Amino acid sequence: MQLYNSLTKVKEEFVPNEPGKVKMYTCGPTVYHFAHIGNLRSYIMEDVLEKYMRYVGYDVKRVMNITDVGHLTSDADEGEDKMLKGAKREHKTVMEIAQFYTDAFFADCKKLNIKTPDVVEPATGCIDDFIRVIEGLIEKGYAYLAGGNVYFDTSKLSQYYVFNNFDEDDLEVGVREGVEEDQNKRNKNDFVLWFTKSKFEDQALKWDSPWGVGYPGWHIECSCISMKHLGETLDIHCGGIDNAFPHHTNEIAQTEAYVGHKWCNYWFHVLHLNTNSGKMSKSKGEFLTVSLLESKGYDPLVYRFFCLGSHYRKSLVFSYENLDNAALAFDKLISKIASLKASDNENIDKEKFEELKKLFTDALDNDINTSLAITALYDVLKADANAATKLALIEDFDKVLSLDLIAHAQKATAEKTEEKEADSALVAEIEKLIEERAAAKKAKNFAEADRIRNYLADKGIVLVDSREGTTWKLEG
Ligand code: AMP
Ligand code: ZN
Repeated sequence: MQLYNSLTKVKEEFVPNEPGKVKMYTCGPTVYHFAHIGNLRSYIMEDVLEKYMRYVGYDVKRVMNITDVGHLTSDADEGEDKMLKGAKREHKTVMEIAQFYTDAFFADCKKLNIKTPDVVEPATGCIDDFIRVIEGLIEKGYAYLAGGNVYFDTSKLSQYYVFNNFDEDDLEVGVREGVEEDQNKRNKNDFVLWFTKSKFEDQALKWDSPWGVGYPGWHIECSCISMKHLGETLDIHCGGIDNAFPHHTNEIAQTEAYVGHKWCNYWFHVLHLNTNSGKMSKSKGEFLTVSLLESKGYDPLVYRFFCLGSHYRKSLVFSYENLDNAALAFDKLISKIASLKASDNENIDKEKFEELKKLFTDALDNDINTSLAITALYDVLKADANAATKLALIEDFDKVLSLDLIAHAQKATAEKTEEKEADSALVAEIEKLIEERAAAKKAKNFAEADRIRNYLADKGIVLVDSREGTTWKLEG
């Protein structure tokens, strides 16, 4: 499998540290608000990566944190804690906010068929681990105390900027919002590992530590939670591109300083989902959530299909027009699948199966090219193969795509059958009423004959009398 590695900036053959096993870490949500569909684009594409690794036979262990403390309104060490801001906004406690939005996040993931990672760990449950690692960093000379806070000393590293050939706009997300330089920092890029003094003295969650009562910085969470569950080496780390700097840069700095060797081999960054007016936001413009899309009548899996239509390493523009196009294409795809009817004695053509499956694996082996994987699905539908083989392939691909293709097709078939049944019941009723009307006319009961005509007219059915008898047509 070839994967683009943000660290080396080239596509590389993916080779895990231990044959057959993959240790994967994902930055989880900051649970101060609902996830927007941009956040969920990252989780959808990471889900495809994880599922494809499982599909090709890797034993994957995936760990994700829940950021319920430490993430400030700027990704650098500036601003208010996002969780506290959420709590104030909704007049709730920080832990109530965390629980509510953690549940909301997983509810959204479920609707989008995003698998829950094997381990999900809230940061507030790992304070002892953070303290232990920070103590280690101080001992090794990589961290210092200043003005009550513990900082990581980036001047001790031979290389700090590891991802810096990204688009400047993306890279600067964290620093741009920084208002004033923290005078305690020895170097501009140093970052906080533990706060006891912040500008926001009303920080709700605080813990005792060797440096005083305080709370952890955001970056240390991911390093510690990853090491806690996956050990001192990691095969692949995922996240949205905005996390590359400073978050992932700082994760690498502190983890490698702590373990004393290379930590993570592959970095998988998902480019942003934007709107026509720019960056997606939870506060400006329409707050695009899965529930909002549902309330507008979209199936959440249409959004997943929309995301799979483009490569994770390209930014993607969301508009309702684009989503409508995806919905239309999805419906067409489903009706094509619904028209496949395998007869009882039909066998899967193994050779054809492998030949068509190869198109799918070639696409995903090439840096998780999901749009080509979808093309492979259309190739199956067009292929010269029997329905049993096609259906087996669709079911197989859907282990990775997770679009519930067969279930959608079955639903479409059931709806069509229901429609047909309703149609034939209506035709039978019309024919019966036409006969009754003819009988009424014969018996000179014109009032009854008119009643039947009007009753049908109300239903949009027009009766046409001729010498041969009465026929009917739909109005208009
Ligand atoms: P957060 O909840 O802010 O910590 O973000 C959760 C995940 O969403 C992180 O991996 C971010 O990098 C990612 N993310 C944030 N904004 C976007 C976006 N517009 N498009 C794609 N991913 C995003
Ligand atoms: Zn992280």
